[in-house]
Amino acid sequence: MPNSVHFSGGREGIGMDFSSEQLQRYSRQLLLKEMGGQGQARLLASRVVVVGAGGLGSPAAYYLAAAGVGRLLVIDDDRVELSNLQRQILHTSDRVGEDKAQSAATALRALNPDTEVIPIVSRLHAENVQSILAEGDVIVDGSDNFATRYLLNEACLQAGKVLVSAAVLGFEGQLSTFRHGVDGSAPCYRCLYPELPQSGAQPTCRSAGILGAVAGVLGAWQAAETIKEIVGIGDSLAGSLLLLNLLHGQLLRIQISKNPACPVCGSNV
Ligand SMILES: [Zn+2]
Repeated sequence: MPNSVHFSGGREGIGMDFSSEQLQRYSRQLLLKEMGGQGQARLLASRVVVVGAGGLGSPAAYYLAAAGVGRLLVIDDDRVELSNLQRQILHTSDRVGEDKAQSAATALRALNPDTEVIPIVSRLHAENVQSILAEGDVIVDGSDNFATRYLLNEACLQAGKVLVSAAVLGFEGQLSTFRHGVDGSAPCYRCLYPELPQSGAQPTCRSAGILGAVAGVLGAWQAAETIKEIVGIGDSLAGSLLLLNLLHGQLLRIQISKNPACPVCGSNV
């Protein structure tokens, strides 16, 4: 095969032929010693579920497709509105009114034909969460409500999946990786937030506003953490929470402890 280069070897013996087009497309990340051909092969063989094609899901899915994740499942039950476009950059003015999952698929397929995109026009709920999670190695939570975050957190434990979670509001964001599905000593989202806030008690982007670039930073960071988990490089954010305030240029990393009384992952469950 004259137009391809064979990379092989490594811990799991992943070998793969890259086309000359792939060698060009991924050339800048193939140069990274942490990535190389083996890491790229892992990305191309990986499957990621992105929950929500909104402010976080847009940059997260964009960078995951750009990096060559093999299959992206994007689930969202909303339609594109004009007020979304300030931050939900997968969507365009001429796709206002379309299903967000379909609009996302249009954008992601145009970016990288290597990535198989599966749009699901549905809300995530208890009846479909396990079948959706079965489609991913890593789950990216780009949802905008505690009920979905709780549902995903619990389902990831049952399904044995890694969860990369973020939330944004105003000029602030927070981010963590939860590995409780694959590591019994790792804390979960519920260890961090034990009680579901009363509905209406929490401000939302709809009620309190958000700077689009803040969602961009956090969503792109979710993509980076997801790629690290797939390739197995760097330091996982598991057990830590990043708190960002972009108005004041502040970044804080705090430790999260596993809560032995956690209703999801605690020792009494
Ligand atoms: Zn927990």
